[in-house]
Amino acid sequence: MSADAALARVLAAIEGPTEAEWVHLADALGRVAAAPLTSTTDLPPWDNSAMDGYAIRSSDVAGASESAPVLLWVTGDVGAGTDPGDVAVARGSAVRIATGARLPAGADAVVPVELTTPADAAGGVVGSRGRALEGPAPVAVLVHAAVGAGGSIRRRGNDLQAGQAVIEAAMEIRPAAVAIAAGAGHDGLLVHRRPVVGIMATGDEIRRPGSDLGAAGIPDANGPALQALVADAGGDPRNLGVAADRLDDVRARLCAGLAEQPDAIVVSGGVSVGPYDHVRAIFAELGDVDLWRVAVQPGKPFAFGTAARPGGGAPVLLFGLPGNPVSTFVTFELFVRPALRRLGGHRRLARPVERGILVDETPKSEGRRAFVRVRAERDERDAIVRDAGGRPVVRLVGGVAGQGSHVLSALAGADGLAVIPEDVDVHPAGGEVDVWWLDRG
Ligand code: AMP
Ligand code: MG
Repeated sequence: MSADAALARVLAAIEGPTEAEWVHLADALGRVAAAPLTSTTDLPPWDNSAMDGYAIRSSDVAGASESAPVLLWVTGDVGAGTDPGDVAVARGSAVRIATGARLPAGADAVVPVELTTPADAAGGVVGSRGRALEGPAPVAVLVHAAVGAGGSIRRRGNDLQAGQAVIEAAMEIRPAAVAIAAGAGHDGLLVHRRPVVGIMATGDEIRRPGSDLGAAGIPDANGPALQALVADAGGDPRNLGVAADRLDDVRARLCAGLAEQPDAIVVSGGVSVGPYDHVRAIFAELGDVDLWRVAVQPGKPFAFGTAARPGGGAPVLLFGLPGNPVSTFVTFELFVRPALRRLGGHRRLARPVERGILVDETPKSEGRRAFVRVRAERDERDAIVRDAGGRPVVRLVGGVAGQGSHVLSALAGADGLAVIPEDVDVHPAGGEVDVWWLDRG
């Protein structure tokens, strides 16, 4: 089966995104909006001042200049967060105002404090020009420049109008979306529930990382990796532990996992047709499952199916990934991550892809689409080096030997996967490839 056909089959098994739930803005980062969000308010909610200064009538200062300043009586003082009430600006007067304070009635402009000098009733200077707005307001102020109507005023609704859409459905919540949701008067919003994903590693040789390996053990790389991959894809990972290579243990753990009503279960290892490979048999007890020989490298074999959700609802997706850690990782990228993103409500399922130059000659197996671990060349500022055509320049991590499906060191050094198509047997040095950026959502 081709990689594209396999992905299409996986996606076809998904009925749609998870249901909506309300989350507080503090928990919204990275979630996907399940409904449009509209502003509860005009923003600003009232005309306000963009500067520290004096609210005035622009006609009063039309003739003001450095050589002929205009004297205005200061009849009030409005701080940010203060209702001006019946404080109003009458002809020939000014009201001291702070940035963000509501504009008093009668004013049509704000003159910045830098263009004024505090004065006494006779027009005598009593402080320095542009003095910071501290202490009590002066009785009068000299204005040294004309200010046009509307000057330094932010009008009500100039940013947002009540009822205006601020977040579209299916938009991923980034920090700026948190800012506008809050500015629009919301303390939370509806997002898709994180897909719940049960994760199980398998193998009699697999040991908890950090524990004694004994004579023939190897640390569990896939369990922790899958938890991180699921979380990174927007899912909620649930650990089903490491199953021994026995039917009863695989069955007990998968049944317990299914009882948690997950959206998907992802198993690593035990999926081939060897005498110790029980995952497919238990998947088949739980639901409908196929073993696919997907034409990808690394990766085959790969089991996929669905099981009825206990208690009803959308079927549970069952993924059996090959056990070699790099195969687990790559097949997750290819088939599980897009599925979790669709469940989570994302519109774009794939990683950002760019056309790049793979410097190294790279052999691969015939007829399979290879996903090789590469790293972009970077300059001293850590910016990606590009060729004259703007294409990123990438190299195999760990050389050709690093491409073994067990080589975690090369995987860990990679920031991308370069795709070598099925019909290429040896990628020529310096040839073009698609690069999937693993460090970008
Ligand atoms: P399997 O798919 O079960 O035949 O496993 C293939 C290879 O991957 C074997 O060398 C396993 O030891 C190794 N492997 C399987 N699961 C894990 C795991 N959780 N962590 C590290 N290596 C694993
Ligand atoms: Mg195994």
